[in-house]
Amino acid sequence: MSEAYQNIWVFVETECGKAKNVGFELLNPARELADKKGCKLVAVVIGKDVEHVAKDAICYGADSAILVEGDEYEYYSTDAFATALFELIQKHKPETVIIGATNNGRDMGPRVSCRLKTGLTADCTALDIDEETGCIAWTRPTFGGNLMATIECPECRPQMGTVRPAVFKKAPYQADKTGEIIREDIHVAADAIRTKLVERVKEVAEAVNLEEADIIVSGGRGVGSAEGFATIRELADLLGATVGCSRAVVDAGWMPHAHQVGQSGKTVAPKVYIACGISGAIQHVAGMSGSDTIIAINKDEEAPIFEVADYGIVGNLFDVIPAFIEAYKKI
Ligand code: FAD
Repeated sequence: MSEAYQNIWVFVETECGKAKNVGFELLNPARELADKKGCKLVAVVIGKDVEHVAKDAICYGADSAILVEGDEYEYYSTDAFATALFELIQKHKPETVIIGATNNGRDMGPRVSCRLKTGLTADCTALDIDEETGCIAWTRPTFGGNLMATIECPECRPQMGTVRPAVFKKAPYQADKTGEIIREDIHVAADAIRTKLVERVKEVAEAVNLEEADIIVSGGRGVGSAEGFATIRELADLLGATVGCSRAVVDAGWMPHAHQVGQSGKTVAPKVYIACGISGAIQHVAGMSGSDTIIAINKDEEAPIFEVADYGIVGNLFDVIPAFIEAYKKI
């Protein structure tokens, strides 16, 4: 293993000049790892007009930021982003590179690691350091979520991994924190980018941004039908919440997969998660147990969801939710 590799990098993903939350979230555990290792934490920001993101990354815990800007980075493309990150890694030789497991991160990370001939642990949910080897211990679910595997990369550098959004929380924003912003001039020629963005189309039904939502009202099989979700939506609209659901609901065709919370759906960490007619299977809980406050409505008092809930209401959701809405409107 080469001594030349040092420091921990977090890739802070941007699109159209805005950062995705996951990059800032990952700076929090990465800060702890860097402190334990006694190395620097560097944010890597690639985008168009994104200097403010580099500054924010420092305020969220990075010691410094590497900034690559250009028109070709306004929207994600595999060729432009993978090339830029690959060149940065070759030049600066980070010991560890952590990337959010978003659609773009899942596309870019493995391509870069393959070009570098190093390993990548995908879709992690926990990060630590193996005290004996000094390697990052990347933990991820395996065998359908029944086991957690901890993976280390003792031989190759950098050690790379993607980490799911909403698993970690952002550190408090320190507005007065300063750090160096290192500009790197990397440009990818238009003819080297083999894909072209023709048009951006918003999801037809509704924008589903579960990972960034503060409040989620989620429905399970207990909602009974696609039509039953009108009650869930009414409550969500009232609270300014996003609608989530269990896999049983997606399998039944009542809601699109974009709304699914859980191991094979999205991992969420809202301030409030209201689970309505959801039993609390381990695969569902895996995706929402990081919520600050969990409220469960279920007619079965033995339902496992009550074990993770902060507040539980035993009753028929079609009685409880309308009563709640009526009471809430009076406040
Ligand atoms: P059920 O388990 O059928 O529970 C329905 C609940 O509604 C019951 O507790 C019942 O008491 C209650 N209820 C019924 N009527 C009412 C009413 N009128 N009022 C109030 N309560 C009522 N699941 C996920 O959710 N997300 C995942 O990402 C996911 N990934 C998976 C991955 C794998 C590999 C596997 C094997 C499974 C996965 N599952 C996932 C499925 C999971 O195991 C459960 O089957 C699923 O979560 C059950 O959904 P549910 O709670 O809506 O339905």
